[in-house]
Amino acid sequence: MLDGCGRSIDYLRISVTDRCNLRCAYCMPEQGVKWVDHHEILSYEEILRLVELAASLGVRRVRLTGGEPLVRRGLSGLAAGIKAIPGIQWLGLTTNGVLLEKQLPALLEARLDGVNISLDALDRARYAAITRRDELPAALAGLEAALAAPGLTVKVNCVPTGDNTDQWVPLARLARTWRVDVRFIELMPIGLGAGLSGAAQGTVLAALEGAFGPAALCPPSPGGGPGRYVRFDGFTGRVGFISAMSHPFCAGCNRVRLTAGGFFKTCLQYGDGADLRALLRAGAGDDAIRSAMAAAIRAKPAAHHFGTGPTPSDEGRNMNQIGG
Ligand code: SAM
Ligand code: SF4
Repeated sequence: MLDGCGRSIDYLRISVTDRCNLRCAYCMPEQGVKWVDHHEILSYEEILRLVELAASLGVRRVRLTGGEPLVRRGLSGLAAGIKAIPGIQWLGLTTNGVLLEKQLPALLEARLDGVNISLDALDRARYAAITRRDELPAALAGLEAALAAPGLTVKVNCVPTGDNTDQWVPLARLARTWRVDVRFIELMPIGLGAGLSGAAQGTVLAALEGAFGPAALCPPSPGGGPGRYVRFDGFTGRVGFISAMSHPFCAGCNRVRLTAGGFFKTCLQYGDGADLRALLRAGAGDDAIRSAMAAAIRAKPAAHHFGTGPTPSDEGRNMNQIGG
């Protein structure tokens, strides 16, 4: 369906858990994480019902995220259920990759279409410092397994900061050899990210051009997301930038989100949306839930206001609850 600004909303990101096996500095505190209570997390049955209703409003693409989605048991069952919903044409997963190698066969069986693997460093010590866990070998095993899966779209996501400056070139180099797009996602001032500073697209691109030569701009892919891609000479895959801060893409935003606690979010920055868990658990019928979703979509904010300071309507959740 169209939102109040005439944007077609067809993409739903679902955070299936706020729990995670890593503690990336810009996403989760090292200690003292207050988890959402188990009974406050949507069950898979509740998620499937909401995806069905979202599909009836025009959602065609779904992404599972977290926290770390692979720490929640039985994720492949949810994936299969989502793929079986009429109207859903594509299902993706965003993961840190640590548990991916083992779970990939079941996810492929469930007809997963794409996987994005978050990787902020290829150096083991640097990875451990950023994620506060020594899990690089497992994450790389996950990436290798994904690259070996025929037909699976694979992307690598890196948040460039002052902590991984010397890793940008090695990470981008993955796209030279492998059929993988490597994307640099500007740090956004959400949750713990608000207290940190990231590197802007221009800084990263300059570093990559210094290593690989001039970048050729790729044409935008039809129906593609916010990523803008370039190609370096001799590369198999592309290098992308998702630059909410320096190159905002709100005018073309096609997405809505479901938090681990069942809140339907229409813009990453704002707390606005609809409490679908409350409706589900109050026994609301399909029409009432669909209407709440549609009203939230119609009221989707026109744009974020990152960089202009906080407002009372800003999101208070951390990124692990929202899903990125
Ligand atoms: N655990 C999974 C992972 O890391 O891929 C899925 C959830 S994680 C919240 C999804 C994505 O959000 C990751 O690529 C992560 O780097 C990114 N992210 C987290 N906090 C961010 C922030 N403040 N700004 C930009 N990206 C952020
Ligand atoms: Fe976990 Fe992903 Fe957040 Fe890192 S970015 S702490 S892997 S949820």
